[in-house]
Amino acid sequence: MLLSATNIVKAKLINLWVVFETIRMHGPIPRTQIAAATGLSKASVSNLVDELEGYDLVVAAKSRDRRVGKPPTPLTINPSGVFTIGFHFDYGRMISVVANLAGDVILREVVGIEQLSPSEVATLISSKVESLVTESKIDRARLLGVGVATPGPFGVEGISPPRLPGWDGLELKRRLADVLDLPVVLANDGQCAVTAEWRFGAARNLTNFVYVFIGNGLGSGVMIHSAAYGGGSGNAGEFGHLIVVPGGHACSCGNRGCLETYMSVDSALRYLASHGVAVESIEAFESDFSPSHPLVSQWLDEGVEPLRLGLHTLETLFDPETIMLGGDAPSWLIDEIMQRLGSLYPSVSGSRSEHPRLMSAGLDHDAVARGAAALPVLANLNPQYRELESELVSHMQRR
Ligand SMILES: [Zn+2]
Repeated sequence: MLLSATNIVKAKLINLWVVFETIRMHGPIPRTQIAAATGLSKASVSNLVDELEGYDLVVAAKSRDRRVGKPPTPLTINPSGVFTIGFHFDYGRMISVVANLAGDVILREVVGIEQLSPSEVATLISSKVESLVTESKIDRARLLGVGVATPGPFGVEGISPPRLPGWDGLELKRRLADVLDLPVVLANDGQCAVTAEWRFGAARNLTNFVYVFIGNGLGSGVMIHSAAYGGGSGNAGEFGHLIVVPGGHACSCGNRGCLETYMSVDSALRYLASHGVAVESIEAFESDFSPSHPLVSQWLDEGVEPLRLGLHTLETLFDPETIMLGGDAPSWLIDEIMQRLGSLYPSVSGSRSEHPRLMSAGLDHDAVARGAAALPVLANLNPQYRELESELVSHMQRR
């Protein structure tokens, strides 16, 4: 094992990130207040702000201070300093968003897809990048990179996401490297959802929380000290494969009783199919069913208790400030699950009252794509995001 000490370059990157985030969250804010908020010296803040201004990431805002003399110049982030594109790919569809540095969605597109191999999806993404740049009229030189969210796990033989046999996001990333001349950052859907809620949603003031993602499959994103936790191979939070019913339903991973076989849209559709009701897609499930449908209700009777066990495990392992429930599943289903869960098992999270132990996600179905779009910014600026490379510097210097 290699231990790495913080060197002066890394320390500077951390400070650069801290100053950027302070301006993002509290701007317009003058240098003196940034220094007070961060504990950095005024000279350091000035240098770091100059650097961020050099990259066009922050700009001077118009001062509202009408006093005589030279007023302090407040700074804000420059939304059009860089742009990113986020893709959320899952069975049957892909959501694309073009976002600015503030995370605002400038253009959004949803396409149904039938080509499900990594090479076909890579070709599709690569042509989408060009058409989205043209349609959104952004300056391509300011396109920092592409974030891609797909269901996990990555690089694990024998485990695939529901309805995507043999799928591996890593293979997609490799293919994208061949066809795109842009940096690509990959994360699973849960990690992107937790990132989006932390940057743009209901979890802006939280630093340690878990997002449980109910979609075709079941996943989660774990935010630890303000960074999505990837684990040893980017697969942390594959919540769906937590065994909650020993000897229970057979799972595609080869085990029995995984939570995903009880609580996911795929599990609901399988339950309906086993009772003679065929449903083609999440969209059809969303529009044609409701919690009062007898088969949906029976399926929930079976699935809610395993989920309650899973949530207890998450609280026990991570001591989160809250657990957020969301995902691609119909909102009526998430609301019903929240209601049916009612009280949770006593756990380490039980004595806190600042945040509810369980809450609904704040963002809509674009959360994953928006989180994916945030990844290139984080990978460049946030030293806590594992894929940190000094791409920003080289990208900006190339311009
Ligand atoms: Zn499994």
